[in-house]
Amino acid sequence: MLNNMEAEEKKSLNFIEEIMEEDLRSGKVNSILTRFPPEPNGYLHLGHAKSLCINFGLAEKYGGKTNLRYDDTNPSNEDVEYVDAIKEDIKWLGFEWDKELYASDYFEQLYEWAEKMINDGNAYVDDQSQEEISENRGTVETPGIESPYRNRTPEENLKLFREMRDGKYAEGEKVLRAKIDMASPNMLMRDPIMYRIKYVDHHRTGDKWCIYPMYDYTHGQSDSIERITHSICTLEFDVHRPLYDWFIEVLEIFPSHQYEFARLNLTYTLMSKRKLLGLVEDGIVSGWDDPRMPTLCGARRRGYTPEAIKMFCDKIGVSKREQLIDIQLLEWFVRQDLNARSNRYMVVQDPLKVTISNWPKGKVEWFDCPLNPAEPEGPSRKVPLSGELYIERADFMEEPPKKFFRLRPGGEVRLKYTYIIKCDEVVKDSEGNIIELICSYDPTTNPKTGEWRSVRGNIHWVSGEHARKITIRDYDHLFTLADMSQVPEDKDYKDFLNPESLVIRKGLAEPALLEDKSDIPVQFERSGYYVPDPDHTEAEPVFNKTVSLKDSYKAG
Ligand code: ATP
Ligand code: MG
Repeated sequence: MLNNMEAEEKKSLNFIEEIMEEDLRSGKVNSILTRFPPEPNGYLHLGHAKSLCINFGLAEKYGGKTNLRYDDTNPSNEDVEYVDAIKEDIKWLGFEWDKELYASDYFEQLYEWAEKMINDGNAYVDDQSQEEISENRGTVETPGIESPYRNRTPEENLKLFREMRDGKYAEGEKVLRAKIDMASPNMLMRDPIMYRIKYVDHHRTGDKWCIYPMYDYTHGQSDSIERITHSICTLEFDVHRPLYDWFIEVLEIFPSHQYEFARLNLTYTLMSKRKLLGLVEDGIVSGWDDPRMPTLCGARRRGYTPEAIKMFCDKIGVSKREQLIDIQLLEWFVRQDLNARSNRYMVVQDPLKVTISNWPKGKVEWFDCPLNPAEPEGPSRKVPLSGELYIERADFMEEPPKKFFRLRPGGEVRLKYTYIIKCDEVVKDSEGNIIELICSYDPTTNPKTGEWRSVRGNIHWVSGEHARKITIRDYDHLFTLADMSQVPEDKDYKDFLNPESLVIRKGLAEPALLEDKSDIPVQFERSGYYVPDPDHTEAEPVFNKTVSLKDSYKAG
């Protein structure tokens, strides 16, 4: 009998952890070996982060290892650019793979096994065209029709298969198929194609091969060659599992096992590499690392931290049921992480000029302000105050409603970290627009040296003569539809692009911002978290908005 605590612990395991613990306990496996198998045909996205956290995270938890294996059997879409980017992203998340491997390294072995299958009567060369093969596969209700070439002798099949390898046939002229069951209720078991002819160079094997193995004939065997104990993939592969097991069984090789979990879907987000490539190719985004992209390089450029992404993956857990996760939950973790760690600066984005009429002419006073208010005695930055400054236009109202605690005619606010000012006069242009406020300051209210006097409003500001101009790229969701799996048939995903997903703003920043040395985003006080973009230079500072301070998500 389990005591209560053990029962508690048991309950909090996810289903893959339960399987792993049971396999270790029963001695079915001695140690855990998983693999992460990206196809190098695009950049990794947040969905892959979930898969990485499961594969690497669980192996780590049980003292096992994880291989990085490129699933590179389709040379037409693959590229070394992607191979390198994938490694960079995995390292960025903080995971370390055991071996770096390529399914293409197994081409020779796979070929030998195909000959064995031919000799054993488990595979045959089919001359039917692609269309005939699809047509004769049947439907879910009706069985398929056996190919007229299905009963070729092993000798004949071997000769033809070798000729396929030697380049004797054109693309599409012949394929190698597994001989299973044309009446199987699982369509994938109806004599699936193992090899097709492709005269395409491969990013690793060059022009050595003109026949390439299909995913199903490669994946399980690659797992088996590496002696992967738990081959974890997304739910759509569950129909492939019987075939995965069948190949391992007829080849009598190490029995790896496949387990499926639900893929991550996020609101207002698409994570299909093909569709993301479409956005890049059409110039809708600036590249794979555009901060609006759900790619890991995009998230990095946006200022999302690996810590936040991993906490998020941990929170959503591992399940068997497809779900759509609110993107605000991810933002919530980003905000949590940055709130604890980021340096604070003041930046005014919609400036209104303020002149302090009683400020001594030419005087500049420097204030020591904490970089993080949670540590008032911790590291600080120096902030200059002079007689001309800028505040946020939204922090003043000429005719404010009742609960407006910021500046109003005749009213007082504190300039954050410094003195209390009072608005004495509102200056307007000929069209009645407010262009300046004339205020006076109370020199007795310096928070460090003066007497404490409390006012409700506490607003951020920058000194006019010291302000640095910056450009801010403010991002919103790339799409307007919350559930992008619901794009209607007669529409395209590009019909749901958000025209305001990128808004360029200007800002006036306190000078210390541009000397910040932190490697995570900074907080613009009362606004949000921002990170210098790779386009950022000293002469032309550019910041990306990572996430706003306020949040409408209620974390459960
Ligand atoms: P896409 O559909 O975006 O092209 P993919 O499934 O083709 O992605 P792969 O490179 O084949 O991408 O995937 C590598 C691993 O990541 C696979 O095990 C796959 O199941 C997993 N994976 C891909 N997308 C997601 C997702 N949204 N959530 C969780 N895991 C995912
Ligand atoms: Mg894939």
